[in-house]
Amino acid sequence: MNIKRFVTNAIGENCYLVWDDSREMAIIDCGVWDKLKEEKIARYIEENGLHPCMALQTHMHFDHIMGLPFLHRRYGLLPQCHALEQPIYEAAPDMVSSWFGQEMEPLVPVGEYLVDQQQLQLGHTTIRVLHTPGHTPGGLCFYLPSEKLLFSGDTLFQGSVGRSDLPGGNVQDLLRGIWKQILSLPDEVVVFPGHGPETTVGDERRTNPYLAAYGTM
Ligand SMILES: [Zn+2]
Ligand SMILES: [Zn+2]
Repeated sequence: MNIKRFVTNAIGENCYLVWDDSREMAIIDCGVWDKLKEEKIARYIEENGLHPCMALQTHMHFDHIMGLPFLHRRYGLLPQCHALEQPIYEAAPDMVSSWFGQEMEPLVPVGEYLVDQQQLQLGHTTIRVLHTPGHTPGGLCFYLPSEKLLFSGDTLFQGSVGRSDLPGGNVQDLLRGIWKQILSLPDEVVVFPGHGPETTVGDERRTNPYLAAYGTM
């Protein structure tokens, strides 16, 4: 399995390109918001002979969606996310203009709503959808069981967990979801978060202070 990370914007959001030997590729959380970075990603895709097949969204906060118009324009892709993210998505342009004084490109429609435990096929590789609400109501993680890889969005970070104080957030849901959906996976699963460096399920189970506290409750 191949993974290429692009840090796409000022907020340090991680966009991941993921592909196997079929060269069918998923783009997870394309938060790119300038033309230079768009071109950099497009060039990488071209140089490596990749076929962009899906635009998977862990959630629809503005820092994870800015590149969706680019993916649609360039590759005809529409985002796939949980249905509960629709209001978060629709609120993003107002958030961007009030926080940054910038106008977003018009939103592209959602292509497909994903549900918990749904299996997606990327080339020869199966991707399992895990619903992990709490950072946002429709937060998702994407798990590749055969590769022992997890893309955790803003649900779980190295040594930390996602914010739950934004609209639709809930700390109990967040911690419950992490315990049920993520910490139930094998220790050696490598976790690629929406911000910051990768980690493993085992490291987080042992050392993440937010999770230890909840685990004893
Ligand atoms: Zn977020
Ligand atoms: Zn984020």
